[in-house]
Amino acid sequence: MPSSQTPFHSPDFYGGRLTIDLAAIAANWTVLNGKLDGGAECAAAIKADAYGVGQEQAGRALSGAGCRTFFVAVPTEAFDLRMSLPDAVIYVLDGLFPGTAEHFIQHDIRPVLGSLCELREWTGICKSAEKNLDAAVHVDTGIHRLGLSPAEFSAAMSDADLLGPFVPSLVMSHLACGSTPAHPMNRRQLDLFQEVTAPFPHIPRSLANSAGILMGPEYHFDLVRPGIALYGGKAIDSEPNAMKPVARVEARIMMVRDVPEGDTIGYGARQSATRRLRNAVVAAGYADGLLRRASSSDERPGGFAMIGGYRAPVLGCISMDMITLDVTDVPEELLKRGALVEMLGPSVAASDLAAYAETIDYEYLTSLGRRFERVYAPLI
Ligand SMILES: *Cc1c(COP(=O)(O)O)cnc(C)c1O
Repeated sequence: MPSSQTPFHSPDFYGGRLTIDLAAIAANWTVLNGKLDGGAECAAAIKADAYGVGQEQAGRALSGAGCRTFFVAVPTEAFDLRMSLPDAVIYVLDGLFPGTAEHFIQHDIRPVLGSLCELREWTGICKSAEKNLDAAVHVDTGIHRLGLSPAEFSAAMSDADLLGPFVPSLVMSHLACGSTPAHPMNRRQLDLFQEVTAPFPHIPRSLANSAGILMGPEYHFDLVRPGIALYGGKAIDSEPNAMKPVARVEARIMMVRDVPEGDTIGYGARQSATRRLRNAVVAAGYADGLLRRASSSDERPGGFAMIGGYRAPVLGCISMDMITLDVTDVPEELLKRGALVEMLGPSVAASDLAAYAETIDYEYLTSLGRRFERVYAPLI
């Protein structure tokens, strides 16, 4: 990561800045943890570089808030996290990749065993070592991605020869429709999860992601695995987002120009000026993670930025390295060359922008900021 100490990485040299508020991540974890009654533990999903905000930094912040258990997607993420959090419990959601078991064991990383094959490989190692080695077992309750089928799970768990000394440290499943709590699939998955895990009361259980936490105590079991809500994202489509924003993206104005009525703006000439416009050309584009699908055209409005409390809609296509904003109604003094405009943050929600691009804030957050200056600081 470039450091702002070296002369070549002065803030002036970047097209934009990504500010990440670690205290907000910690505060969001504390809020979610506070929703759990009884003994449920609040873990954290920290995969995909902590949803784009920085795994190492987010890991330390969450650990400081009291989080002890972390879920990453792939082994590389786990080994990196182990270096910064030597005492954390770390699970790899994608499970056991072939040929990697010895490294899991060496670094005290737990795979979430997602198929009978993976389970057999792991229990084989436990049997040779004549001891239990910690790992979770994933049971599929309907999403049909990873996980043993309920029948496979029940059969495996009562097969002493297969298990040897292995006792799962966690049994988990994953909701397919958490973002829409009224979807009947949620209840079906909950009931099935209860049913298949009931014979094993000694094994801790986990079903809920962020949305599952918000859906209430029935979904909490022994451990919850929030991701998006920690990073300020929206877990449930139909409800207002109560989490603190974590990321702000600001991008630099390079110039402001007039567009005569009738002329077009940007690639493809897809947007024409319906009146004489003022157009700010800003130094951030899809190579920085701004979603190209948030482009605007005569047929369909795109995303927007905020400039000192004024809304500035995207004009035309989002290009690789720049965007153009309609600043016709923004006071000139806010439009100085070099000034930063807010593309995401406390006044522009990732979920709103994502909606313009027909995607979700998960995708928007994880794509952000490859080329921006990255700063860890409070947002407000
Ligand atoms: C990503 C993930 C989570 C976290 O989900 P959010 O919706 O971001 O809260 C939890 N469990 C599994 C299996 C995941 O893949």
